[in-house]
Amino acid sequence: MKFEKVMILDGYTDEPAGLGVPPYIGVYPRYIAGAIWCANKDASITYVTVDSAREMEEKFFKLANSMDVIIIVAGVTVPGKYLGGNPITIAELNNWFKIIDKPLKILAGPAARFGIGIRGGKVAELPWKMRENFDIIIKGDPEIVVYRLFKERSVEFIEPDEKREDYVLTNEFSVKGARIVEMHPNHGKNLIAEIETYRGCPRFITGGCSFCTEPLYGEPVFRDQRDIAREVEALHRIGVKFFRLGRQPDIFAYKAVGVGEEEFPKPSPIEVEKLFKSVVSAAPELEVLHIDNVNPGTIAHHPEESREIAKIIVKYHTPGDVAAMGVESADPVVIKKNNLKASPEESYLAIKIVNEVGSVRGWNGLPHLLPGVNFVYGLIGETKETYKLNYEFMKRVLDSGLMVRRINIRKVMAFPGTPMWRIGDRIIRKHKRVYDKYLKLVRARIDLPMLRRVVPKYTVLRRVYTEKIIDDRTYSRQIGSYPIMVVIPFTMDVGKFIDVVVTEHSHRSVMGLPYPIKINETPIRALKSAPGITKSVARKITLKRPFRSVAELRELLGEYSKYYEV
Ligand code: SF4
Repeated sequence: MKFEKVMILDGYTDEPAGLGVPPYIGVYPRYIAGAIWCANKDASITYVTVDSAREMEEKFFKLANSMDVIIIVAGVTVPGKYLGGNPITIAELNNWFKIIDKPLKILAGPAARFGIGIRGGKVAELPWKMRENFDIIIKGDPEIVVYRLFKERSVEFIEPDEKREDYVLTNEFSVKGARIVEMHPNHGKNLIAEIETYRGCPRFITGGCSFCTEPLYGEPVFRDQRDIAREVEALHRIGVKFFRLGRQPDIFAYKAVGVGEEEFPKPSPIEVEKLFKSVVSAAPELEVLHIDNVNPGTIAHHPEESREIAKIIVKYHTPGDVAAMGVESADPVVIKKNNLKASPEESYLAIKIVNEVGSVRGWNGLPHLLPGVNFVYGLIGETKETYKLNYEFMKRVLDSGLMVRRINIRKVMAFPGTPMWRIGDRIIRKHKRVYDKYLKLVRARIDLPMLRRVVPKYTVLRRVYTEKIIDDRTYSRQIGSYPIMVVIPFTMDVGKFIDVVVTEHSHRSVMGLPYPIKINETPIRALKSAPGITKSVARKITLKRPFRSVAELRELLGEYSKYYEV
């Protein structure tokens, strides 16, 4: 068996701590590539995303069948819709790897470790029929297993369940594998590298939240700042400018004091500052540095240290950042029965503290650092009252004038090994109607006014990337953590950075026009909600176009003329 020509097929991954759907590149393909190159520096690796594979059609199967090994990275354990790419489907996993029969076929990522999502509430082991498509299904850490395979050059000596105990090898792989990003279709455009800072939840000592797999890793193991910086430097050297420190359960607890003894160890501002400092010095030309995942319980238990950490993040990061918090539920019964991390009062305090430090607006038009809030439905002890309590919690946040960048509402996904496994989707199925009702209510009564607060009408958003044309509209986003979708009501060149003025809001996106608005070229129908435009002004514009000077514009639009150019 030969181990020279390898294809990494990125079917994309989305987990609670780690995103790998474009424009993100997750850690798996990078670590796996590095493991291969560390074992065999001459190996030829071809990296293909599942979207590129689809475009290649027959050519893809020909190419795959010319390989010695194909490694498929897959697993979307937090299902959602994505603008940037379509994760590999069950049908593709079923059918493609019957056609691809020459190389050694390896499945890695959450799909291999946990299985695949079914009925929106439960994860199931891969069906036997699908398992037969693969020679190795890696349930351990892919980079470690792949490294052994390429070192030994034999499947006999590997243990597909092998997990890493520290970062010694993975750190090397992360640096060596960085250059795989050059083969990513989004490289040089809007590619964001997801960066890992540690694994394991400090709450493992109490078992953690009922639905979460993170405590299964046991005591958290932290990556050293130097090693993280080495990886960031390697990525930056080959042109990556957008980074997210997103692969960890709680960035505020990075190298916290008392891990292994305390459920909520004391955050260490010194260590967090060292982390951010080393990242920005490793990538002096970075354009985006964002975070993900913050435990509201950490902030509530240690408000002073957390306030300091929020200030450090604001000092080193780029604006438009989101501290996504797993509030999960505001129902005390649900919180207790599922061993959740924070009471409603604690979550409220955490939201307030992040607002106090982060709500100041940055150069790109967005507040520096805002909380995101995640709710999970279908948990043990949930009743119809839970929905009411969650709604009231968010109403209180809204009425207090606080800002929340994003309210993520999802149905619980039950994983083997967690307490939710025995419940599965039973509760969420029972509450389907009330779930749908409250989802609509939150979108209309909380999301909409909140979005208007976060990006008021006529806010100018800088460096918005035009991504996709759908139905004659241009879907665009700034680059970063949970960016706001900006819909431009006509088609534009995609793949460009533009500034946009916000003209309208819907529940989860805004409408906008390229800024400054070109008064002579913008279609009249697109101007209808632009700054200073009334029906009569629109009529005058139609009659008067083309405008020849700023003075003419000022005469018609007064103070609003600053948004336009001739
Ligand atoms: S606090 Fe709960 S949800 Fe967050 S990582 Fe720990 S166990 Fe998982």
